[in-house]
Amino acid sequence: MTTPRLGLFGGTFDPPHRGHLALAEHCLRALSLDAVWWIPCGQPALKQHAAASAEQRRAMVELAIAGRPEFALCDVELRRQGTSYTVDTLAEIADQHDRLHLWWLMGLDALVDFPRWREPRRIVSLVRLAVVDRPGDESDQVRSSLPQWLADRVDWVPMPLVDAASRTIRAESAQGPTSRLGLPDSVAEYIAKHRLYTAA
Ligand code: ATP
Repeated sequence: MTTPRLGLFGGTFDPPHRGHLALAEHCLRALSLDAVWWIPCGQPALKQHAAASAEQRRAMVELAIAGRPEFALCDVELRRQGTSYTVDTLAEIADQHDRLHLWWLMGLDALVDFPRWREPRRIVSLVRLAVVDRPGDESDQVRSSLPQWLADRVDWVPMPLVDAASRTIRAESAQGPTSRLGLPDSVAEYIAKHRLYTAA
């Protein structure tokens, strides 16, 4: 039996948008993954608290990935108390499932921050990193400045730039009804219905 190939995609997903979907889709195909597990964080380590609650972010991810059998939600970080550290998540997943080829999926901005994550060397001993370009960071510059221990563990996945960011969607929503650009329709409807990210 061949070893299953699994992509783990962590994020705040506050809200999930078309950039996230493109990333998961391109990694799935480029690395011939069997599945991508979307892992909304409980309490982000390097960001402020999420604006939407854990349950709302879970619901929005479920809507965003609906109808895609290769995508699944994994709530391991939502169930854990305190700050979400990727290294703990991986230890938990590795404990429960042996014999998996694992990748941690991320955009270029996350790779730039990666050396500041908790136990980055341990993380890359457990998974390879699948990285896509993201507007805002210069790919060649980042690639050439990576330390060898990290560069050796990165798989670069080609993807056209997708100019979408949760913070922009939150900021736009605070100004008025959420523009659907950048969001799956189902997520835009959820945001409108629950009046998320409004200024009041
Ligand atoms: P915020 O704007 O609140 O910082 P975000 O849009 O970066 O949020 P996250 O949920 O923090 O969204 O991102 C999860 C992962 O998805 C990160 O690895 C990030 O680099 C990646 N990502 C998010 N948006 C894009 C995009 N447009 N293109 C490529 N990667 C992206």
